[in-house]
Amino acid sequence: MPLIMTKPSEPSGRDKASFGFRTVDAVEKEGLVRDVFDSVASQYDLMNDLMSGGVHRIWKSVLVDRIDPQPEQTLLDMAGGTGDVAHAFLRRADERERLNADRPTHSAEAVICDINHEMLRAGRSRDTAEGYEDRLIRVTGNGECIPLPDQSVDTYTISFGIRNVTNIPAALREARRVLKFGGRFACLEFSHPVTEGFQRLYDTYSFNVIPWLGEQVTGDRDSYQYLVESIRQFPLQDAFAQMISEAGFSKVRYENLTGGIAAIHLGWRL
Ligand code: SAM
Repeated sequence: MPLIMTKPSEPSGRDKASFGFRTVDAVEKEGLVRDVFDSVASQYDLMNDLMSGGVHRIWKSVLVDRIDPQPEQTLLDMAGGTGDVAHAFLRRADERERLNADRPTHSAEAVICDINHEMLRAGRSRDTAEGYEDRLIRVTGNGECIPLPDQSVDTYTISFGIRNVTNIPAALREARRVLKFGGRFACLEFSHPVTEGFQRLYDTYSFNVIPWLGEQVTGDRDSYQYLVESIRQFPLQDAFAQMISEAGFSKVRYENLTGGIAAIHLGWRL
């Protein structure tokens, strides 16, 4: 698959962005986010299981149900990190291929793109263990200027990634650019509990337990403090759905998971 670089929409020195509860110069945010994931990469998968009690696996499985992987499709998993979603996509597509063994097809392929080389590297041994090294490529790149041609993928996923992006509208426009007509956009992200009581309970857990757990497991409290703050700063479900529509996607909808702790937003490039 040929790789091209498009020009990023460069933030100017005057633009601001939120980094957790801090406001920083937009040009700084990418480096700060990269530092967070450099620091946690080697313990990232373990921390996901510990923080969520394994529930993130169920959420990712629902995401893969919604995109309904098929043989012959190409997935771009943006901000794909260690590769949970891309692996699940290929596994499901292969199951479907085996069911239709009488029809000749070529197997599904996936590209994981991530700004952080350490996160990509941390998942590489799993690609080999699953036998995916020939049809799963890992590319370092920014979701705001995806290094892929126009209309080159059938499905675009971004799981727990969009919250970290400096210019979210630019990333959504790039997602639409690389999708073929009829292609699917699917975003899994932490969101906002649907009742006040549940929000209070969740705040108590996330602001007290998660940074402490991060410190015990990775020795880095600040990165997990950033995680919980960045979740609070992320737009509400309806507002984010509106941003996806404004980027040009059609039939945008969302579903809450675990009472709104996470949400899946879906749209089509039509
Ligand atoms: N998608 C994986 C998952 O669900 O387990 C990893 C999610 S991790 C919380 C967030 C990832 O987003 C990190 O690997 C980080 O490097 C990546 N990331 C942050 N900003 C990005 C950007 N602008 N473009 C591409 N990747 C980005």
